[in-house]
Amino acid sequence: MTESIKVTVVGAGTMGNGIVQTFASFGHAVCMVDMNDEALERGRAAIEKSLGRFVKKEKISQADADAIMARISLSSDLASAVADCDLMVEAVFENEEVKRDIFKTADAAAPAHTILASNTSSISITRIAEATSRPEKVIGMHFMNPVPIMKLVEIIRGDKTSDETCKQTIQWSEAIGKTCGVANDFPGFIANRILMPMINEAVWSLHTGVGDRESIDIVMKLGCNFPMGPLALADYIGLDICLSIMDVLHDGLKSDKYAPCPLLREMVEAGKLGVKSGAGFYDYAK
Ligand code: NAD
Repeated sequence: MTESIKVTVVGAGTMGNGIVQTFASFGHAVCMVDMNDEALERGRAAIEKSLGRFVKKEKISQADADAIMARISLSSDLASAVADCDLMVEAVFENEEVKRDIFKTADAAAPAHTILASNTSSISITRIAEATSRPEKVIGMHFMNPVPIMKLVEIIRGDKTSDETCKQTIQWSEAIGKTCGVANDFPGFIANRILMPMINEAVWSLHTGVGDRESIDIVMKLGCNFPMGPLALADYIGLDICLSIMDVLHDGLKSDKYAPCPLLREMVEAGKLGVKSGAGFYDYAK
């Protein structure tokens, strides 16, 4: 990035702290906002830990890591955090009402030039933008997990997103080392429209006895040259997130070909959410 900008990231969770780390690593002042003080502290600690790994691998020096941390500030006050920022990236829970509230508050408090982006995996950017008075400046910036490592930002244009907003967001994304693909505002956009039905089909294959979990994963891993099999990937993403995205595809595209496999719903209802809960298709208790 040629010029340095001020970025506000809302949500200090898995995605939020990765986005904060990435912008700060490329020289930008970043304010990380969360409504929960413990989440803010966990987010800060996660960034410190991640930078520590880069120092250990000699990708950056300890002085670089210290300078990156010094560019990061923490806040629980969204309105004051966006008051002088150029870009807001929202990465809170995948809930439309919560996101619309944040965009409404940010729209009222941020300068007119500020671009308001959402890291949503599946919620309509057009509907989020309707909560603001600047829908032409609202866009989807869908980072992949883990953000500091993964190269893609899927850019999502809402119905009213302007060409200028799209161009500026791509430029800022490329300047932090990412490559963009641009999607229009359909349920699941590009990444999850294609990935989630594939994962759902892997769950159907397990559910109906086409193969056991190891066979399903090894066939797709080695046969398609994927870094991991679809069931292991589902555990990593979170089975609750996979289910909610399948529900969005099913409701939004109105076709039963997107109906979530009953086994996926049963596992979520049983609290088996994958890596984060200690068990999913595989056991992570150890
Ligand atoms: P997370 O649960 O790890 O973190 C969400 C954070 O948002 C929490 O710290 C919570 O305290 C905070 N929060 C909730 N409501 C808030 C509010 N009103 N104001 C301020 N902070 C608030 O979630 P995550 O996995 O980081 O996902 C965040 C977003 O990114 C979601 O929209 C998700 O769909 C999307 N996403 C997730 C992944 C993934 O692999 N986890 C990948 C791509 C996109």
